[in-house]
Amino acid sequence: MKLITPEQFFKSIKKNKPDIDLDLVKLAYEFAADAHQHQRRQTGEPFVQHSMNIAQQLSELKLDQTTIIAGLLHDVVEDTEISVGALEKEFGEEIASLIVGVTKLKKIRYRGLERYVENLRKMFLAMAEDIRAIFIKLCDRIHNLSTLHALPKEKQMRIALESLEIYASIADRLGIGVLKGKIEDLAFPFVYPKEYFNIKKLFAEKVKFKQPHVENLNEALKKNLFHAGYKDFGIHSRIKHYYSLWRKMQRYDDNIDRIYDLVASRIIVKDVGECYACLGLIHQYWKPLPGRIKDYIAQPKTNGYQSLHTTIFGPDNQYIEIQIRSEKMHNEAEYGAAAHWAYTESGKKPVLMDGKRYEWVSQLLRFQKEANLKPEDFIKNLKFDFFQDRIFVFTPKGDVIDLPDGSTPIDFAYAIHSDIGNSCAQVIVNDKIAALNTKLKNGDIVRVVTDKNRRLPSADWLRIAQTSLAKSKIKDAVKASRKR
Ligand code: MN
Repeated sequence: MKLITPEQFFKSIKKNKPDIDLDLVKLAYEFAADAHQHQRRQTGEPFVQHSMNIAQQLSELKLDQTTIIAGLLHDVVEDTEISVGALEKEFGEEIASLIVGVTKLKKIRYRGLERYVENLRKMFLAMAEDIRAIFIKLCDRIHNLSTLHALPKEKQMRIALESLEIYASIADRLGIGVLKGKIEDLAFPFVYPKEYFNIKKLFAEKVKFKQPHVENLNEALKKNLFHAGYKDFGIHSRIKHYYSLWRKMQRYDDNIDRIYDLVASRIIVKDVGECYACLGLIHQYWKPLPGRIKDYIAQPKTNGYQSLHTTIFGPDNQYIEIQIRSEKMHNEAEYGAAAHWAYTESGKKPVLMDGKRYEWVSQLLRFQKEANLKPEDFIKNLKFDFFQDRIFVFTPKGDVIDLPDGSTPIDFAYAIHSDIGNSCAQVIVNDKIAALNTKLKNGDIVRVVTDKNRRLPSADWLRIAQTSLAKSKIKDAVKASRKR
């Protein structure tokens, strides 16, 4: 077990974030070490090793000081006697509320029900009042996955599956490629051990064969670009992640020879103009494979990814994929939403890659500056294209039901099943009996108590119900009873 010393930790934080207030980092470290002093991780490590790991990852993402400090302290409220008030007194309101935000996200658990996965993802995003809480949560998950072997088998499976279904997908939506790849590859062996083993073996053989050819191509590319007058450019080979390779192979008859981007050559140039010029240049030297030229600059992927891709018949008579992108696009692909945060912090305006995609990030930044914004108002104002005006509530079993804002327990009951709706006698919201016209809030746990003898909705439920689904079910039930 390799432990990191506080000195090594401070040094690496300073290296990643030269302008950070190191005294504050040291204070937070002492605070966390003290609070967790009697706790150990399942691996046997002192707990504060986990805290340091999260802060370190956040500093690698170049996130702001507040996020890094909050990362260091993220388990203090949940796992120790320290109160939010004490934390706030010591480190201020911003850090304290960020930690509360991280703690809240713990409530969201994936229980292996396919049909609710998408709701769960949306809920995760909706519940995060501060996007930085999600960054902390993703890094927390990465460290937990890397020590998952120390946990009991059933827990391993649940956590790894949740990581694939929820966390990796969220990292992807936020465009943070580095975190998505890490989460998937760490969770993969726990969820699909046999497949992981096979892919790893196959991968090693293929990469061993392919890598030298890509290196040769890179050398040739370097010369040609240099001759053509390019000065500031970078070329490196990038190797595909295990999990994404496995997923891709399923779409290609499990034939690894049909995967052209197992090892790809990646060129990073100055700007968009150079990307296209570079593509033209490459095609003058090596023939492109038909149908494999992709312009993700003109048509970015849904998560904002931009690059030009082409597969060419290279110098060793091998097909090799080349990816061309500007420095900005590269930064975007690796750090996504996290990169936007970093930009704003250093005083520059957030760079919004063609409008829409990151609009909500810039809105987020604006909202956070406004003082005393209540979480409810924040969520209401947050325009993330797919959960605008939606709320997410739990069934007692932890399933997530997605409802329009303003919905009542009646809407909830009918969303589950019309029989539950029709025989609804009472509702319990967060362990308390609630009126049927209560406006539900994000994260409420709702239990419907049914009465077997009750088969008919009351007529005033029509006024209480907000969703058209509930209204039409109520009308149907009333109509059916009249016919009887
Ligand atoms: Mn943690």
